[in-house]
Amino acid sequence: AGHNTLDQILFDQGFGARRECEGLICSGLVSVNGEVVDDPDAVFPEDRLSLVVDGLPWVTHVQALIMLHKPAGYECSLKPGAWPGVHNLLPPALRRRGLQPVGRLDQDTTGLLLMTDDGALLHALTSPKKNVPKVYEVTCKHPVTPEQIKKLLAGVVLDDDPAPVAAHAAEVVGEGEGGEPSCHLRLTLLQGKYHQVKRMVAAVSNRVEGLHRSSIGRLALPADLAPGQWCWIEDPAVVLP
Ligand code: URA
Repeated sequence: AGHNTLDQILFDQGFGARRECEGLICSGLVSVNGEVVDDPDAVFPEDRLSLVVDGLPWVTHVQALIMLHKPAGYECSLKPGAWPGVHNLLPPALRRRGLQPVGRLDQDTTGLLLMTDDGALLHALTSPKKNVPKVYEVTCKHPVTPEQIKKLLAGVVLDDDPAPVAAHAAEVVGEGEGGEPSCHLRLTLLQGKYHQVKRMVAAVSNRVEGLHRSSIGRLALPADLAPGQWCWIEDPAVVLP
């Protein structure tokens, strides 16, 4: 990445129209590397620049790649529907940059959601040829049996495709009451088909009652990232095959 004027950098980072960005700078509300800069034409490196914009600390990212801990009750759809969109969880500067979810989680699914404004990266992450393992913690209605695990690993037929889909990994986690099989299934999938977990679990005669995505590739949802919070991913390699 190259250099740019401070007003252009603020504009590109989503801090508003050119006039607004200029206004913030001229009013002394922007500091760079800890010092107030009131000249909109001052030139700086545009990536990984440390700013404070009207009180908000901000490290510039020319391409945005973030992870969001998606709470239940939010939609990944870009058009507003019955539930608020995940975009509402982002700060205004990121919202203005039009980040797209990388794949979708259902309204009632929680956990790790990637979002980016980098079209090439979005394509690389969602291309069916790029098989990045995604791990789901599934709470099932009924105890998960060894037969169900066997079928999930062998492959089940879903209604939109005659070719069976197999889980990359499937295991029962923990024990149920009185040594019963547990209802907690950990499922690793390489694909990202519509409602894939719910449909695969239904195909083995069980039912999803709770769904949480805990990791994508080598990236796990950090324990200290609360539902609704987000953070930058500095190196996209962690979510590529
Ligand atoms: N599979 C589903 O059924 N739902 C999700 O949200 C993700 C994977």
